[in-house]
Amino acid sequence: MLYSDIARVFGRLEETGSRLEMTSILAEFFAKLEPSELRDVIYLSQGRLHPEFYPIELGMADKLVLKAIAKAAGYPEEEAERIWQKEGDPGAVAEDMISRKRQLTLFSETLTLENVVQGLTEIERSEGKDSQSQKMKILSRMLSNAEPEGAKYLCRIVTGRMRTGASAMTILDALAECFADKSDRPEIERAFNVTCDMGLVGETLARGGLAAVSSIQVTVDNPIKVMLAERLPSLPEVMARMGGRCAMEFKYDGMRIQAHISNGSSRLYSRRLENLTGNFPDIGEHLAQSLKVKEAIIEGECVAVDPDTGAMLPFQTVTHRRRKHGMDSAVKEIPVKLFMFDILYLDGEDMTQMPYCERRRVLSQTFAEDPLLTLTTMEVVSSDEEAEAFFDRAIASKCEGVMAKSISDASVYRAGSRGFLWIKYKKDYHEALTDTFDLTVVGAFYGMGKRAGKYGALLMASPDSETGKFCTVCKLGTGFDDAFLDALPGMLERFKSESCPRSVEAKMIPDVWFEPGMVLEVVGAEISVSPIHTAAWGWVKEDAGIGIRFPRYTGRLRDDKGPEASTSVQEIFDMYEMQGSDAV
Ligand code: AMP
Repeated sequence: MLYSDIARVFGRLEETGSRLEMTSILAEFFAKLEPSELRDVIYLSQGRLHPEFYPIELGMADKLVLKAIAKAAGYPEEEAERIWQKEGDPGAVAEDMISRKRQLTLFSETLTLENVVQGLTEIERSEGKDSQSQKMKILSRMLSNAEPEGAKYLCRIVTGRMRTGASAMTILDALAECFADKSDRPEIERAFNVTCDMGLVGETLARGGLAAVSSIQVTVDNPIKVMLAERLPSLPEVMARMGGRCAMEFKYDGMRIQAHISNGSSRLYSRRLENLTGNFPDIGEHLAQSLKVKEAIIEGECVAVDPDTGAMLPFQTVTHRRRKHGMDSAVKEIPVKLFMFDILYLDGEDMTQMPYCERRRVLSQTFAEDPLLTLTTMEVVSSDEEAEAFFDRAIASKCEGVMAKSISDASVYRAGSRGFLWIKYKKDYHEALTDTFDLTVVGAFYGMGKRAGKYGALLMASPDSETGKFCTVCKLGTGFDDAFLDALPGMLERFKSESCPRSVEAKMIPDVWFEPGMVLEVVGAEISVSPIHTAAWGWVKEDAGIGIRFPRYTGRLRDDKGPEASTSVQEIFDMYEMQGSDAV
């Protein structure tokens, strides 16, 4: 397969904003590929060489990529740098400079998919003192053999910013359209949810059809998409929705961890599938030591505890464990505990289809007693009074609130989905003062006065699962301290986009656009109809969306959540409806 044909498809995806059109472009192209080629193309379309959870990323710095472009095109580096300053995207620099290449390639070879995968693998594996210059040379060699469009996407892939607009959901649609029936889409999605590996699902489907996909099961090798909770505004509503009886657990304020334990070692993943094994070596070791069976996948909330008193500390403390260096001292300075709440796999058996009570019973028998591991506090409650009393105990124990969990026969673990089998209820709602939202930054406005020269406010958005677009919900300008405002431009730099990203739907135009990437926790006073925000456009009123009034940053950077996991348009709309009236 010629790489230029693949780049042409990426170009067509980028040109169209329509999910339907992207689906048919991909479906038509997938049909032309061998199964193993399909796997590679799927990874490349997501700007990577492996599935998302693979511990090594290509992640070349923009400056290094500019060097490679300049070398391949035969221009001084300053020329690449000048165009980059204007465009902000190394892909655009490559397309421009390779199209007016001065350097004649001496050993010109036509790039194939195989060459590209091989070159990228070499880049990924370069290690040691001259790894940077090695990576630069390999990329430059590939660029000098590429056509302008191919060069553009090579640079996007190595910097991890593909921006074709084709999301995982679009790829699933295309796989169903190409190899199966529309009605088979849920089965294909199930396989993706239990493996988090779209390439594997694609290749399996192309080789063995739907029957092969149906045999894809939970294994310790692949992380599983996490199950998420709905929310309701009061405990009586939670109880009514649960049919008057449910399990309630403390909702701990920490970091969710999915642990895959096998052969005496553990791999730990965040809810975004980042590999956190190196950040919590103590938890990994204790899980492996205390496991009473051979293999298991469990989930829990990792919470920092005071080394002297053992009291639980706020979420911000545990996030210090995310740093890359000085882990040994961090392990000592910030002790943590894992509050385990679910088991998804045990010695060859997929537990996700078992009801909650059965999973909880198995979980309680799977580990030997351990000072770092404990089960979440849980009680089955049968009345509003019992629920209130349990909630008060959770708050007194420094928890955020409670998680109500269905105990019906249908209470399976729904990988990758948010539903009413789990309902969260937090202190914020109880006090009826505020509600929290996890929102994604898609733009910034330059500051004035004291904030001159920095960003003064941010344009915040939510994902709409129907359209796959991020719709704006508020302009956020309060709650920032000076240190945060100073750090913001640097933190947002890698998401900068020269124009409104394809995945963003906005009417309000910021000074600077960003690809969805950074998630912040925001509190708001109420949700109202808004003519300038695009979330839930036309749902409440023609020619209007909904927006969050008086938003304030809580100081909590949700770097444990990806933009697609931020509070969705549907959730904000549900909150709008629950709130009853619109103050506007
Ligand atoms: P939120 O982040 O507000 O959507 O709340 C859901 C998160 O609460 C989960 O992803 C977990 O990280 C966390 N959590 C804390 N305690 C529990 C519990 N007992 N059961 C399930 N999730 C919990």
